[in-house]
This record gives sequence, structure tokens and C-alpha cells, in this order.
Amino acid sequence: MSTASFRFYEELNDFLPVHRRKIAFTSTCAENATVKQAIEALGVPHTEVEVILVNGESVDFTCRVHEGDRVSVYPMFESLDVRPILRLREAVLRRPRFVADAHLGRLARYLRMLGFDTLYENAAPDRQLVGISRTERRVLLTRDRNLLMHRELTHGVFVRGDRPRDQLRHVVERLDLRSDCLPFSRCMNCNAALEEIDRSAVIGEVPPTVERTQRHFRRCTGCRHVYWRGTHYERMLKLVNSVLEGCGRS
Ligand SMILES: [Zn+2]
Repeated sequence: MSTASFRFYEELNDFLPVHRRKIAFTSTCAENATVKQAIEALGVPHTEVEVILVNGESVDFTCRVHEGDRVSVYPMFESLDVRPILRLREAVLRRPRFVADAHLGRLARYLRMLGFDTLYENAAPDRQLVGISRTERRVLLTRDRNLLMHRELTHGVFVRGDRPRDQLRHVVERLDLRSDCLPFSRCMNCNAALEEIDRSAVIGEVPPTVERTQRHFRRCTGCRHVYWRGTHYERMLKLVNSVLEGCGRS
């Protein structure tokens, strides 16, 4: 066993018991434990960690913890330039893709509404979600911290907030997605791309009043569902605008 001092910063403290938040505390870890194992043993999923300093030096997850080490653990920085510091993982794709766990169906629909390719498998077991995340390079979204501690997972986000719209705001902010949004370009039901279609193409498929009063139609290239700018669209547009405005940091 070795005893080291730990200090977690910013929102990483939410994963700790109250008496360990925002202070340096000592903890023992297994002989030869890596810093990743030590951090997860304290309750913080590695996916939430962006930078680790041991005795002031930037290290990766495989660094061993030794007696008397001082370990500082940081989440993703929002504005601080940390380029000289070792990042723990390669950046996600410029336009991130997602896989959401079984409890985040509404969030998955909202992300699709913003144009992000988001898989949602409501019966997929944890192992399958991790596999999809790895092989398809998708960011795993979950509120299950044990799932984020999965050894093989590299990119995940612990989703904060109980209401789907708050969860959406959190994900957009955390991954800085504002400029990557392409609202209403993807089907909320099945995740396939939408294509613009002519009014003449929807005759008989939409109610006559819609056919008469609407000019813009899109059809899903997957499930063939037809979208138009009705009251549902107005509600969604409000949500899109509030999310994008609420995330403004420029
Ligand atoms: Zn569809």
C-alpha cells in the first residue's frame, strides 16, 4: 500500500463524498496502482478527467502512484490554455458522434435535433455500449458512473441534470458543440439524415391543411417520416435557441 495526497478540481468534486471536496486529502492505494485506478477507486470516472499532475508534472493514466505523491486531478478546461500539458486522450472527432444509454432517450432525440449522429439502444447491455463507443468512435453518454469506469472506454461523458433539456445544455457546453450544430438536419426518431423535398412529393402523406399552408418539407432518408414547420417545430426551435444562447461564451 502507498499513501498519497489527492486534490480534485471543479466539477470532479461532485463524485467525492462531501468531506473530500475541494481540499487535499490523503488516501491509501493498492501497491503499484496506476493513477487511473487510484482515481476511480476514489469514485471519479476516468472519462471525466482531462489532466493529471503528479508532484506538479503532467502524467498519463498509466503513471504509478508512489508513497507521498501529490496528485492533482482536473476536468476539461473551458478557457485555460493547457496545450503544454499532456492531454489524457486524443480529441474526439471534430464533429462528435454519440451513443446514449437506455435512460437517455430524450437526450438522444434532442441531440439528433441539433444534427448530431446519436445512437440510442434502449436494450443494449453495458458491454455493447462500450463496444459501440470504441469501434465507432462515439462518445458514450450516461448517468451511470460505473459504466464510465469501464476499462476499455476512452470517450464518455457523465451527463448532468435530470431534465432532458438541461442534459442537452450540459453536453453542448461540456463538448463545446455550439458551432457544430446543424438543427433539423437529422431524424429525431431514427437518426438518419433528412432531405428537402417538394410540396408535390407529400400530397396524400400529410393532412390537407398542412399541405395547403406549409411550404418547406423534409423527409427522413431512413424511416421516410415527413417533417414540416408546424407547432412542434416552433417548440423545438425555441429549445434550440435557448440551448445555443445559454451556451454562449464568446
Ligand atoms: Zn427517420
